[in-house]
Amino acid sequence: MGRISESLLQDILAKTNFISLYQDKMRLTRKGGKWWGLCPFHAEKTPSFSVDDQRGLFYCFGCQKGGSIIDFLMETDKLGFFEAVEELAERADIKIPAHEGTWNERDDKEELERSSLLGLNEKLASTFHWLLMNHETGKEAKEILLRRGIPETAIKRFSLGYAPADITWLHRFLTGKGYSPEFLARTGLFASRNPRFPLFADRIIFPIVDQRGRYIAFGGRLIRGDGPKYINSPDTL
Ligand SMILES: [Zn+2]
Repeated sequence: MGRISESLLQDILAKTNFISLYQDKMRLTRKGGKWWGLCPFHAEKTPSFSVDDQRGLFYCFGCQKGGSIIDFLMETDKLGFFEAVEELAERADIKIPAHEGTWNERDDKEELERSSLLGLNEKLASTFHWLLMNHETGKEAKEILLRRGIPETAIKRFSLGYAPADITWLHRFLTGKGYSPEFLARTGLFASRNPRFPLFADRIIFPIVDQRGRYIAFGGRLIRGDGPKYINSPDTL
């Protein structure tokens, strides 16, 4: 197999004290159900770096950096994915069997593709969310959610979003961010017959997150007109 199995990773994460790991690198104080500290990734005087102690995820409201404890270690200690998991395993007193984590070139390529897709999903989720919360184009979708009794706190917590009705927008937006059309065609976010045509247009977006807090897919609910009421993008993993 060549990579850390999901079950081993889950065991390691279950035994990890997230907060103490973060606190090795920074000071955190508890406030309103989360832990807060000065962001290690940008200069600031008031804390906007938050940590969720249940899932170990971090998010900075200042520079929008976010991710798992593994991403955090990779970034702060300049570790590769496997090295970061090794560090967690060591602290959790779990031995990684020798057959796990032996990499080969094919795995590296797959891992790279997967992490590019996850990175794209994460950026897209925050853009869809921003459009819903702040932009004129998402105003009606937001009103629909509020009218249905979904409070703003839940919209924020689950990062609900809005995919614009303009069917040319998504492809333009992502190629503008530097993604190649070839890569975009593999994301599952566009029609297979017409690779510039988005799967989601004029829909409320529900990001689908796995146990490690990664954005692996999206669900989209139609808000008007014809078409299937709900559609999901294919899982990235
Ligand atoms: Zn920051």
